[in-house]
Amino acid sequence: MSTNVAQSYPYRLEREEDRAAAIAATLAAHEGLADKVRAESLPYDGAAGSSAWSWRCRTAGCAGVMHTAGYAREKRGLVALCDGCAAIALR
Ligand SMILES: [Zn+2]
Repeated sequence: MSTNVAQSYPYRLEREEDRAAAIAATLAAHEGLADKVRAESLPYDGAAGSSAWSWRCRTAGCAGVMHTAGYAREKRGLVALCDGCAAIALR
């Protein structure tokens, strides 16, 4: 049995076009998700440049990757969206 240590460190950098495509596909696949993301975050403007961080999803049984989806409204941080289970998390 392996222990899945909490992995909040970045998984990899991805190109902006890959990030945008992954977020768009995830939002399109889940009805109402775009509204939920908009309610929980400020739009990502790509200010970090041509690449953005992604993270491994921590939901049990999910092999998805969490892509940068926006900025946290009240705290400093990024809001990430899983392309597998559609979980939204602060990173
Ligand atoms: Zn997930």
